Amino acid sequence: MVKLAEWRGKEVFRRYGIPVPNGRVVRSAAEADELVRSGALVLPLVVKAQVLAGGRGKGGAVKFASTPEELRTVVSGMLGMQFKDETVKELLLEPKVSVGRELYLSIALDRSAREPLLIASGQGGVEIESLNGDELVRIDVHPFAGLAAYEKRRVGVAFGLEAPASKELGGVLDSLWRAFQQEDAELVEINPLAVVDGHLIALDAKVIIEDDAGFRHLEYAEIRDDRTPLEEIAREKDIAFVQLDGDIGVIANGAGLTMATLDVLAQFGGKPGVFLDLGGTDDPAKVTEAFLLMAKAHPSVVFLNIFGGVTRCDTVAKGLVAAMTQVPDADRFPIVARIRGNNEDLGRQILQSAGITALLDLKASAQAVVEAERARPAGRAAT
Ligand code: ADP
Ligand code: MG
Repeated sequence: MVKLAEWRGKEVFRRYGIPVPNGRVVRSAAEADELVRSGALVLPLVVKAQVLAGGRGKGGAVKFASTPEELRTVVSGMLGMQFKDETVKELLLEPKVSVGRELYLSIALDRSAREPLLIASGQGGVEIESLNGDELVRIDVHPFAGLAAYEKRRVGVAFGLEAPASKELGGVLDSLWRAFQQEDAELVEINPLAVVDGHLIALDAKVIIEDDAGFRHLEYAEIRDDRTPLEEIAREKDIAFVQLDGDIGVIANGAGLTMATLDVLAQFGGKPGVFLDLGGTDDPAKVTEAFLLMAKAHPSVVFLNIFGGVTRCDTVAKGLVAAMTQVPDADRFPIVARIRGNNEDLGRQILQSAGITALLDLKASAQAVVEAERARPAGRAAT
C-alpha cells in the first residue's frame, strides 16, 4: 500500500475540490525563512512534520510559530527529529487558522462488507479509535451509485452545521467520494475537517492508495520509501525480491513455491534472508540479472528451487551458470539447486558440470542448504 504524506494527500484533496490551506513544503530552516521573507507565507504559521504516523499534534510534531525567530527554532528543532521510528525530513508550513469546530470524515474499504464505508463524526480532531461507537455515523456507500442525497443529509444532521458550512458539506462529501474512487484509495480521511470563519477546510489529510492499482497511478510509484535499496533496484527491473533478516538466499519461481520453500527451510532450522521470485520467466538475461541482484545481498548460501512448468529447467540452469561467471569472487556463495519439471535432467547436468550441488528431493535439498549455511561464517547478509 502507498501511504501518502499529508502534503501529498492535500494535493489530492485540492485536485478534487476539497478546500485545504495554502501550504508549502520545506526541507531546511533557510527555505522556511525565505518563504516568509518573500511573502509567500504569512506568519503565524503551523509547522507540521511530514511523517506517516498519526498523533503528531499530541506528540510535538505539529507546532505553531508567530515570529521569524520562533519559526527558525521550531523548524530546526523538528527537522531530523525521530517521530515513532520515522526521521522527519520534510515539514509542511501552513497559515495558522482559527479553528471553530473539528469534524471527522473518512471513506475506507470495508473488507468484510465488501463495500466502501463512510464514517463521520461531529467530534473530530482526536483519533477515530478513541471515539465512542454511537457518536459515529456509518454509511455503506454503493460502489457504483456513490453517495445518495439522503445519505449526505444524514452526515449534515450529525454535524449540525450552520450556513455556509452546511451548504459546503455536500460538495466536500462528493469530492471525497470521487477522490476515493478515482485514485483507487483504501482510505481517504479528513481529521480534522475544520470550520474556520463558517467555512469548511481540511486541516489534515490521510490518503492510502491500494497497492494493486499501482499500475494505474504511476505518479505514486516513486514515493514508496519502505523498500531497501536492493528491493528498489529489483522493482525497477520488475523482479519480485524481498529482504528479510536471515542469511540464506532463496530463488524460486512463482509465489506459492517461493513461500513453500521458505517454510521448508524454516522447518529444517534455516533462516531465509532474501527471496527472489522468478515468476514464469525463462529468459536467461532475466535469470542472470536476478542472480546478480541476489549476489549483492551477500547470502551465505543460495537455494535455487525451480519447478519447470512454463519455465524450462535447462534455460534456468544456463542463465544461472552464465550469471555465476559474472559474480565477483568476493561475492561468491555456495548454491544448492533443485530443479524439477520440463527438461530437468538436462538442467541438472548443466548445473553439476558447473560444480553446483543439484538435487531432486525437496527435503534433502533443504537439509543440504542448512548444512552449507552452518558450515559458513554467519552474518554476511547485507541490508
Ligand atoms: P495529527 O492528526 O497527526 O495529530 P493534524 O494535522 O490533525 O495532525 O493536526 C493536529 C491539530 O493541529 C489539529 O487537530 C488542529 O487542531 C491543529 N491544526 C492543524 N493544522 C492547523 C492549521 N493550519 N491551523 C490551525 N490549527 C491547525
Ligand atoms: Mg489529524
